[in-house]
Amino acid sequence: MSKFKKYRNLPKSKGKFGAIVTSTTNKPDKGLLDGHCNVTACQRPHAIYYNKSTQKYYCHECALEINRWNVNDSVELYGTPHLCELDEKYKHLTRDELIELILSREE
Ligand SMILES: [Zn+2]
Repeated sequence: MSKFKKYRNLPKSKGKFGAIVTSTTNKPDKGLLDGHCNVTACQRPHAIYYNKSTQKYYCHECALEINRWNVNDSVELYGTPHLCELDEKYKHLTRDELIELILSREE
């Protein structure tokens, strides 16, 4: 399967903020850059999206989901439609490299 196809086929959101994995214990690096997603029920690795509101880091899927539902508030509060943004550390990556990174956690 090509990596683009694999990328498009990432599991779709099944619950709040794309939470699929149900986790009851918090990872020690939950919500930290390069740690685990700040959504308790998710906590996937590669939290690389910074949420300006909570000031925590989220995975790709949760960041997209959060952005989708907070466009108006984000524009009003921060002057940008994206509440969650890719951390500076990763902004130099090409789309290909970013996809590679996101997929690498699935292995
Ligand atoms: Zn997540």
